[in-house]
Amino acid sequence: MKNSTSKETPLPSITLDDVGGLPEEMKEEILQTLEIIKDPDRSAKVGIEAPKGILLYGPPGTGKTLLAQAIAREIGASFFSSSGSAFTELFVGVGASRVRSLFDNARKQKPSVIFIDEVDALAGKRKTHGGEETEKTLTELLVQLDGGHDNEGILFIAATNRKDMLDDAFLRPGRIDFTFNVPLPDTKGRKEIIDIHTRGKNLAQDVAASLGILAESTSGFSGAEISSLFESASRRAIREGREQISKKDLDYAIDRTILGSTSRSLNDA
Ligand code: ATP
Repeated sequence: MKNSTSKETPLPSITLDDVGGLPEEMKEEILQTLEIIKDPDRSAKVGIEAPKGILLYGPPGTGKTLLAQAIAREIGASFFSSSGSAFTELFVGVGASRVRSLFDNARKQKPSVIFIDEVDALAGKRKTHGGEETEKTLTELLVQLDGGHDNEGILFIAATNRKDMLDDAFLRPGRIDFTFNVPLPDTKGRKEIIDIHTRGKNLAQDVAASLGILAESTSGFSGAEISSLFESASRRAIREGREQISKKDLDYAIDRTILGSTSRSLNDA
């Protein structure tokens, strides 16, 4: 059976500077963690071990995937990315064998980052989460995470919107050493994200002058929504044969984003 869950994933040229709106304390902790990973011998001398696993949790579209990519690039690691749902299989043993090959392949190309998005589909609480097959797959994940020396040079990063659903055994230190909340950005964070997504974009003067107000008026927007705002405004400008994003393009994009999230929450209700 073909298994695309265990292949190396091309890594976009993302650095930590491309991830906006992270709380200051978290940024510092991440930078410290990266220093430990980059120079494990020095860290070992002061009794600090490189982390094996990191959990990123928070609402959709806040930059968890982006952050995992940035971390992999900062430490010069190969990137193996997949989604928890890719391991939930009805066929006996397939989920567990996919987990095994993912770790085997990552070990062949270390240093590696293994990133699993929607990890709750794979590492949900055993009592409530489902049948025997799901449990076997989770057990295999726990075995692989406990891989001892084999896991030197492997950093496991998991992301979820539902931390409350995760199995306690999965969250145990040694498997998950750091847990970071990646929240919706506040006004300052939204301004940082707006600046990232307008880098190199041709903005009309009134648009460029109103980015601070835009940050204030987009409360509740995620990084992904802010990014799609500027994508949508750019597309409108191009459709109308212009190279510059006008205030009208941006207003149109804001309306579309707000409409999109309203219809989403109506559907969720
Ligand atoms: P999900 O929980 O739905 O998997 P996520 O938290 O992993 O979402 P990403 O996939 O990283 O979110 O974000 C999607 C896109 O939105 C990114 O590629 C980026 O363009 C933009 N984006 C999201 N958050 C940020 C951020 N904090 N800074 C800059 N851009 C962001």
